[in-house]
Amino acid sequence: HLGSIERPLRIMDQWTYHNRLYRAASFVSGMPNLELVQLTSFGCGLDAVTADQVDEILRAKSRMYTLIKIDEGSNLGAVRIRIRSLIAAVKARERRNLRLPVKSSAYRRQVFSKEMRYTHTILAPQMSPIHFRILQQAFRAAGYNFVILDAVDPAAVETGLKYVNNDACYPSILVAGQMIAALQSGKYDLNKVSLMITQTGGGCRATNYIGFIRRALADAGLSHIPVISLSAQGFEQNPGFKITFKLLDAALKAVIIGDLLMRCLYRVRPYEAEPGSADRLLEKWSTVAERAMGHMGVFRYHQIIRGIVRDFDRLPLLPVKKPRVGVVGEILVKFHPTANNQIVETIEREGAECVMPDLADFLFYSFSTGIFRHEELAFPKKTERNARLFVWLLERYRTCMKRCLRKSRRFEAPTLIYKLMKGVDDIVQTGNIMGEGWFLTAEMVELIRDGVSSIACVQPFACLPNHVTGKGMIKELRRRYPDANIAAIDYDPGSSEVNQLNRLKLLLSNAPVGRHPDEGADGMIHVPGGGVVEPELRHAEGGMAFGDTEPVNASDMPVAD
Ligand code: SF4
Repeated sequence: HLGSIERPLRIMDQWTYHNRLYRAASFVSGMPNLELVQLTSFGCGLDAVTADQVDEILRAKSRMYTLIKIDEGSNLGAVRIRIRSLIAAVKARERRNLRLPVKSSAYRRQVFSKEMRYTHTILAPQMSPIHFRILQQAFRAAGYNFVILDAVDPAAVETGLKYVNNDACYPSILVAGQMIAALQSGKYDLNKVSLMITQTGGGCRATNYIGFIRRALADAGLSHIPVISLSAQGFEQNPGFKITFKLLDAALKAVIIGDLLMRCLYRVRPYEAEPGSADRLLEKWSTVAERAMGHMGVFRYHQIIRGIVRDFDRLPLLPVKKPRVGVVGEILVKFHPTANNQIVETIEREGAECVMPDLADFLFYSFSTGIFRHEELAFPKKTERNARLFVWLLERYRTCMKRCLRKSRRFEAPTLIYKLMKGVDDIVQTGNIMGEGWFLTAEMVELIRDGVSSIACVQPFACLPNHVTGKGMIKELRRRYPDANIAAIDYDPGSSEVNQLNRLKLLLSNAPVGRHPDEGADGMIHVPGGGVVEPELRHAEGGMAFGDTEPVNASDMPVAD
C-alpha cells in the first residue's frame, strides 16, 4: 500500500522500518490530499539519517515536511502550534492554487572516474595520527594522490555542526566537518579533489557517514565533488578506485606498524629519562616505514618490526612507577586527538601512562562477527568459515610483531580475538555487533586482567551501541572486579572540556600505580645493561587528593532539617 521509492537514495537504505518511512514519503508526495508528519524521539540516532532523507523525498515534489521531536519533556502546546502551522500552510497553498515544480528525488552520485585517478587529490578524514601517517603512504604507493587531513583542526567541529544534522553522533559531525572545512580552506582545487570515507556495513550510522557527507557537500554548494566509498563489501563502484592486493597488503602493514609504534611509544614515553627521546624514536621509525611503503616485502616488514621493538626496548627510562590508565571506547573518539580533547597528552601530563588497545583489534572484531551470525542467526556455514579465514589471515600480519613483543623486556603482545570473545561471553552477548559492540566490553575486561584497572571509557554522546556495551557494562564489571576504577566520559560538540577533564582527573586521582616497563617479579627496576634500582612511586597529579587527611569532626557537620 506504500509508494515506491525513486532510487538510488542518497543514504544507504539499510533499516527495515525506515525503508517503510521512505516509501510513506514517496506515497504522500504523490497524493495532493495527504501530508506527512514524522515523529522522532530525542536521542534516537537513526533519525538523524532518516529525517534528512524523508525531507529530500518530499522536497523534490515541492511538498512540506514536518518533523516533531517527542521526548518526555516535550511541551504539547508547541506540538499543537506546529500542526496548526502545517494546516495553515496547506490551506494557503490551496488558495493560491500554484503549480509547484516536481522533480525526481533519486540521487545521482558523482562517480570517481579513471581519469580522476591521475588528476584528483583524494582527501580522507583523520582518525589516528600515528597509524594514518603511514597509511597515507600506502595509498600513495598504490598510485593515488592521497592526503589524510590534519590531526587537530579546530574548524572541523564548527563546520560539522553547520552542515550535518545536529542529532547525528559526534564522529559523523567531526568527519564531515573535517572534510568540508578542508574544502573551504582554499588549499585544494575544487575541480580536482575527491573525498574518501569508509562504510563499515554495520547496523549503526557508520555505514551512512557517506550520506551525511554528500548532504553536507550539497548544502555547501560542492555537490560536484565525488565521494569514494571504502568498504570490504564493495557497496559502491568507482572505475577510478580499486582495492588491489598491493594496496590491501600495504594498508594492513601500515596498520600493524602503527599499532606497534603506538604500543611501544605509550608504554615508555611517560618514563623517558631524556624528554623527547621517545617521540624522536617515533619520528625515526614512522619515516622509515613511510619510505618503505610500496616496496615493503616480508623481509623488510619484519626488519622494521624488529627495529622498532629493539629501539624502544633500549630507551633509557626513569625508575618511577606511575598509574596506568586504559582508554577504550568508540573508535574515532578513542583515537582522534581533536575528538577526545587530547586525552593521551592529558593523561601523560597529569603524570600517568596511557594504555590504548590496538587499532587492528577493531578489524579482528569486525571480521569475527560472522561466527555469531552463523551460530545464532542461521547464516550459512560459509559466513563463519570466511570470518575465521579473515582472522587467520590478519593474524599472519602480526605474527612477527607478537613474537618480538613476547621476547622484549618491556612490552606485551596483543591478545587473540577469540580470547577476547571468551572473556565476555557470560557478560554481554557476542551478538552485540553494532558500533564497537561486545568488543568494547572485552577490551575493558582484558585491560583489568592485565593489571590496568583504571579505565576511561570514552564515547560520543548519542552513540547508542556504545552506551549499551560501554557505559552499560560498568556496573557489572565493577561487581566482578571490585578494583576496577572505570569512568565513562562523553564527548560531543557541546560538552564542556572542563567536565571531561574533571572526570579524567577524578579517575586519575583514584588510580593506583602500575607496573613499570622494567619492573621484575621482585618489584624492583632492572635497568637494561645491568643494575637493580628501587622504584619511586609517583601518583598522578592530584592523586590521593581524595585521601582523608583531615578527618571531619561530626560536631562540625551541618544539621539536617
Ligand atoms: S558506533 Fe556510535 S558513534 Fe559510531 S556511528 Fe554508530 S552511533 Fe555513531
